[in-house]
Amino acid sequence: MQWQPLEAAVERATGRAFKVRDSRSMGGGCINQAVLVSDGKRSFFVKLNAASKLSMFEAEAAGLDDMRAADAIRVPEPVCTGSSDGNAWLVMEYIPMGGRSNARLAGEQLALMHRKQADAFGWRMDNTIGSTPQPNDWMNDWAAFWREQRLGFQLQLAARNGHKGALQSRGEKLLGSFDRLLDHDPVPSLLHGDLWGGNIGYDREGNPVIFDPAVYFGDREADLAMTELFGGFGTAFYETYDAVWPIDSGYAVRKTLYNLYHILNHLNLFGGGYAGQAQGMIDRLLAEIG
Ligand code: ADP
Repeated sequence: MQWQPLEAAVERATGRAFKVRDSRSMGGGCINQAVLVSDGKRSFFVKLNAASKLSMFEAEAAGLDDMRAADAIRVPEPVCTGSSDGNAWLVMEYIPMGGRSNARLAGEQLALMHRKQADAFGWRMDNTIGSTPQPNDWMNDWAAFWREQRLGFQLQLAARNGHKGALQSRGEKLLGSFDRLLDHDPVPSLLHGDLWGGNIGYDREGNPVIFDPAVYFGDREADLAMTELFGGFGTAFYETYDAVWPIDSGYAVRKTLYNLYHILNHLNLFGGGYAGQAQGMIDRLLAEIG
């Protein structure tokens, strides 16, 4: 990696000279390579991928900006994005993590972020969930948004990836049952969009930090559902969330409908075993409505 174009971009963005003296791999996340770069005084967290992924990083930076603007929970500040020598990069504020976790504060602050609202469901640009495209065309009808731009989109992708048969026929039935399954009228809340346990940390002072988002305005329950998908954030988290903004009745069933999106996405990203899990979720949802 030639650092010069990145150094110049950091310099332009911050108005201060920057030369990489030290670079340390922070390992790979699920999708990108992460590097900590420093000039001895200032450090930045850099995500790297192929140059073709520049728009993915631009949308990630915009998502970080929007979550920061809600001023509810700590979010790394994006510095600049760019590409050079076949690499795309996203440079952001480096936040040392590893502080004591505080689920109570995280629940409260997420509820406050969800208070930030738009007039419709969607976002100002498309982005990605993992590395899968995520469409965000504005719509007024939440059920139609979830049917078309979330589940329908992933099911079509699954068909193109060769996952046909029962998954598709049961999936079609599910999409046709939305008037009964998603009879819910949420407000369009600012969502992180990919809030599993790997995308929250705690800074040295113990403040929650959320990163690696797939931002859009949607039902806040979609964020809550994902916190429960791979293990849960602990009862204190849900207690304080509920104290700030009580969770609506019927969430337990909608949770499966919302998490189905992420399981279909995992099927499309990683294949194999997720097909059975997705189909099990679809069957459970169809059983709900008899
Ligand atoms: P990926 O998109 O590849 O999944 P992430 O954005 O999730 O990558 O980052 C990978 C890891 O790096 C995270 O689990 C987190 O611990 C750490 N991390 C992410 N952003 C920052 C940051 N701004 N400062 C310090 N550490 C970070």
